[in-house]
Amino acid sequence: MNRAVLLLTFLASAPSIEAAQPQPNFVIIFCDDLGYGDLGCFGHPTIRTPHLDRMAAEGMKFTQFYSGAEVCTPSRAALLTGRLPPRNGMCSNRQRVLFPGSQGGLPGSEITLAENLKENGYATACIGKWHLGHLPAYLPTMHGFDEFFGLPYSNDMDRVPGAPAGRAAFNSPSSDYWNVPLMRNEEIIERPADQTTLTNRYTEEAIRFIRARRASPFFLYMAHTMPHVPLFRSQEFKGESRRGLYGDVVEEIDHSVGRILAELRENGLDDNTLVIFTSDNGPWLTFDQQSGSAGLLREGKGSTWEGGMREPMIAWWPGRIEAGTTTAELASTMDLFATCCSLAEAQVPEDRPMDSFDLSPVLLEAGASPRENFFYYRGFELMAVRWGPWKAHFLTQAGYGQPQPERHDPPFLFNLEIDPAEKFDVSKNHADVLTNIRNLVEDHRSNFHPAPSQLEH
Ligand code: MG
Repeated sequence: MNRAVLLLTFLASAPSIEAAQPQPNFVIIFCDDLGYGDLGCFGHPTIRTPHLDRMAAEGMKFTQFYSGAEVCTPSRAALLTGRLPPRNGMCSNRQRVLFPGSQGGLPGSEITLAENLKENGYATACIGKWHLGHLPAYLPTMHGFDEFFGLPYSNDMDRVPGAPAGRAAFNSPSSDYWNVPLMRNEEIIERPADQTTLTNRYTEEAIRFIRARRASPFFLYMAHTMPHVPLFRSQEFKGESRRGLYGDVVEEIDHSVGRILAELRENGLDDNTLVIFTSDNGPWLTFDQQSGSAGLLREGKGSTWEGGMREPMIAWWPGRIEAGTTTAELASTMDLFATCCSLAEAQVPEDRPMDSFDLSPVLLEAGASPRENFFYYRGFELMAVRWGPWKAHFLTQAGYGQPQPERHDPPFLFNLEIDPAEKFDVSKNHADVLTNIRNLVEDHRSNFHPAPSQLEH
């Protein structure tokens, strides 16, 4: 064989070597109302999270990672569609999330990450809390998931008449106080769901799915019901944590993560699976000791202060993500859409505006994030904008208990890299930064067409 033929043979074979690279699996573990400060590896002094700590030691921690919204429904819509909630109508200024009486849900015209990956040969499962519409047209199986096992909405809904009044029901909760359904695909299989077993049953289902689908690429979206109140854990974790009931619940989730990573290792899938661990919004502070902690961040769930939307995030992919790394690059749950599609060599929808950036340079090369700004919406209201280290608040409002927002002109301005707790307004010294941010907002609005609310039906 002469040199030219050899070269041609090599060139001809190169693409097939490339094509033989298997598509990676994706596991997104999404907690409910877990705060920025609730994990050992994010600084909590008494909640023990050895499995998540190990996951971080073997992977990458993100310290400036945002959920797409400050409460459940819009946050989940943002993650699964890679779009800001007002674009798909999954938010409202009057009704913050979907309720059992709601008639709306994630519109069929939206393309979910599951749908997109399924079209590219992935097996898909949604295990855990859905909260994007409980009516038949909106269930996970209508949105690209081959299977669903979990609750259609929050575990504090469907409160039973006669259950202890107010907070008393949460202080020593019983599954019988909330008539929440547990579903498999489109069927209710248990009602009320025995909430003490949920974390464990979700884990069993996840392991079953991984085993069954290990031969082909899969996407597992595992959205824990916990640590959203009412707080439940199984017998094994009762009274185990020095942080009390809330700590027990987080430690059971940690145990679940350990089992899932072990399952991936045992099946030889660890070097071909990207696992992401994060949360939908910050801690629900009005629940006092039963709420989590946003650590050094201000406020919590429901607000567009940092504590409401900045989340702990860990990415794990042994051999691909450098072990023991921490990044302060800007990123969001919305970016998981473009990131997974890029890694799966799947196309991101081009027929609609997306709010999703491919994070693979951050994950695989510890490089810079393509995301340079972040828009903080509460309902349809643009409350604040982050641009690089700067955050301008046009409007502020406590997560709960403050009926009207407060408008700021000039906006409050914080340098989040110097002042992550948002304590020191520096707007007076940085008129140039505010001008830039105002231009950014103008640009953003010029191509922004909110959809009618699905939450007000
Ligand atoms: Mg939540």
